[in-house]
Amino acid sequence: MNDNSLWSGIVGQKDAIDKIISALRSGEPGHAWLFIGPRGVGKWTTAKVMAAALNCEEEGCGRCVSCGKVLREIHPDVFLIEPEGNFILIDQIRQLLQSVALKNFEGRTKVIVIDEAERMTAEAANILLKTLEEPPQDVVFVLVSSNPEAILPTIISRCRMVQFKSLPASEMISFLAGRYNLSYDEAILATKLSGGILGTAVSFATSAIKKERRKAILKVVQGLDRFDLARLTFVAEDFVSEIKKPLAELKDKHKKELKELKAQLNLGDIPLQVRRRIEQRQKRELSREEHQGFEDILNILVSWYRDIILLKEADRQDLLTNQDCILALREYVDLLTSEDVYKCLQIIEKTKQYLRFNVNMQLAFETMLFKIHDVIAVQNSGYNY
Ligand SMILES: [Zn+2]
Repeated sequence: MNDNSLWSGIVGQKDAIDKIISALRSGEPGHAWLFIGPRGVGKWTTAKVMAAALNCEEEGCGRCVSCGKVLREIHPDVFLIEPEGNFILIDQIRQLLQSVALKNFEGRTKVIVIDEAERMTAEAANILLKTLEEPPQDVVFVLVSSNPEAILPTIISRCRMVQFKSLPASEMISFLAGRYNLSYDEAILATKLSGGILGTAVSFATSAIKKERRKAILKVVQGLDRFDLARLTFVAEDFVSEIKKPLAELKDKHKKELKELKAQLNLGDIPLQVRRRIEQRQKRELSREEHQGFEDILNILVSWYRDIILLKEADRQDLLTNQDCILALREYVDLLTSEDVYKCLQIIEKTKQYLRFNVNMQLAFETMLFKIHDVIAVQNSGYNY
């Protein structure tokens, strides 16, 4: 493994990577793995890198044709499965096992990565279990889960377990500063807004649109107590349009990707099946980005109210996320009681829970804003008595 390999792109998971690489080098990679740990720490990325390494001459160089196909998610021997809606269904696993039974197309090893494996329905888990009990040759299953308690113990007992850890903030900050050439302050802000998820921090740190979005949201939140109810509906609309902005950027990137691939393949056109797989992945990326946007906005709101609490209860200006809004924050320290601020935080956290379901975002924002307004505007009107 050299420093440019795909493994070097995984941050802060040395123990996990060492365990996997030593298994790969032993020549007996095992037929089933379970990657566990908190959301967003690199389990899925590592599973993809492992799939690449199992089919690369150089343990995952990132430059060869095979690695390129795994990364684009079009390798014919690497299958990536995730929930359709809320569950991984029996048909998904059945279809997968049919493909597994076929002879390998290009690769040495077929790799099946199952994300959010705890979401397999009981039927789906049971047919997977049968396959794990009599594993086919040259097939490696990688199950990924941030909630392994919900996986059948009989499946877990068949897997080699790898524990992924949360990334310490200090490590994330120095990675962001080093890799993306950010100032220390910028790296701290991105880290604080990321909820501990590196991918979120990277996407904030590298996107001008997302930085502008933060400013726009903070401007709105500063005036929230003075808005009338009709205005709140427009604010919710603005939030939704803020979610859409990075989607346009991503769509452009997707178009470019297809164009580049076409040029590389030198075939005139991309084979239909490959095109379909790419388009499916791009669709998933868009939906993920949309969800991320929803969560990002809520995280910005949380950061605002949490800053007010930090000032109110500890006067710790040094710990604020929104250092650039210190004057406006101080204003709210006097206007709101701690109890009110905690109420607002609860309302936002509750809205976050809707993320798991396919809610109407406009409606979710509106409901949240009305509730927050209820808390903070009542407080203000108190001064008039
Ligand atoms: Zn390679």
